[in-house]
Amino acid sequence: MTYTYLIRLFDPWKSSLCTCPVKYSFDPYTGCSHRCLYCYASSYIKEFYNCRPKKNLIEIVRKDLAKLPNNAIISMSNSSDPYPPLEKELRLTRRCIEQFKKYPVRLLVITKSDMVVRDIDLLGEIGAAVTITITTPDDSLARKIEPSAPPPSRRIQALAKLSEEGVNTGLRLDPLIPLVNDHGFRELLIEARDVGVRHVVSSTFKPRFDSWKRIIQAFPELEESLRKLYIIEGERIGRSMYLEKSIRFKMMREIAKECAKLGLPFATCREGFQELHTSPTCDGSHLIKINQTLDKQHLDLMY
Ligand code: SF4
Repeated sequence: MTYTYLIRLFDPWKSSLCTCPVKYSFDPYTGCSHRCLYCYASSYIKEFYNCRPKKNLIEIVRKDLAKLPNNAIISMSNSSDPYPPLEKELRLTRRCIEQFKKYPVRLLVITKSDMVVRDIDLLGEIGAAVTITITTPDDSLARKIEPSAPPPSRRIQALAKLSEEGVNTGLRLDPLIPLVNDHGFRELLIEARDVGVRHVVSSTFKPRFDSWKRIIQAFPELEESLRKLYIIEGERIGRSMYLEKSIRFKMMREIAKECAKLGLPFATCREGFQELHTSPTCDGSHLIKINQTLDKQHLDLMY
């Protein structure tokens, strides 16, 4: 029987636009119930919105962890959310973090759920960094584009609580969909700074076939304009549609400028605009602290 790794080397389709450091990707759940219209993971995972736990999760995670190099960065999650409603009852993500605690690995959490604050104790102990995605400060717009995710107001509260408790945090202002949520971000950035966020990463919407269909169905009045921007004037990179480069640059530069005014380090995700980056990493992995629970032996191995 072939062994299936659950903690795998992160490889975003070998995209030359990805500037992430070498890291591993891990999803405790398959699929995601947040139902974001713009989600790209639904294009390659079957029955995507039916969120389900992975089989033999803890057993496989333990084996995978033993094979990882010291100091490996684990990014959780890139193709789902580690805190779907199911997690409240199953506590699988929490059990995985308990396993991470025993190994010389570094954890970067990416979520849209304020449930992450439940695990502040463990996250603090292992020095994890948490990035929370917020695509708009407007709760009602968020309900439309991320129908089942907790509202942005709760996510900001989560960022505040994490920062207050000493967990390093970042904001993922991503993706920005032209004419939908590409406005009002100054207010959000001010809030983020005020609650202690130390890194901002942003990107433009890069639809695939299914996410394109969902956006057009939700915003039929924008179909013509979006079609012009993406299909007539935009370009195709890999399996995704991109806006024309100068439009993407302008959108990212706007946010970079606001971040600069607020003293917030900034980066872009899969855009190819490193000249706008003021943060040491694009994904926020520089915010991860040394795992304080590692014993001396582990630390000796790391350095
Ligand atoms: S939270 Fe992430 S993985 Fe889940 S539906 Fe939204 S974009 Fe997709």
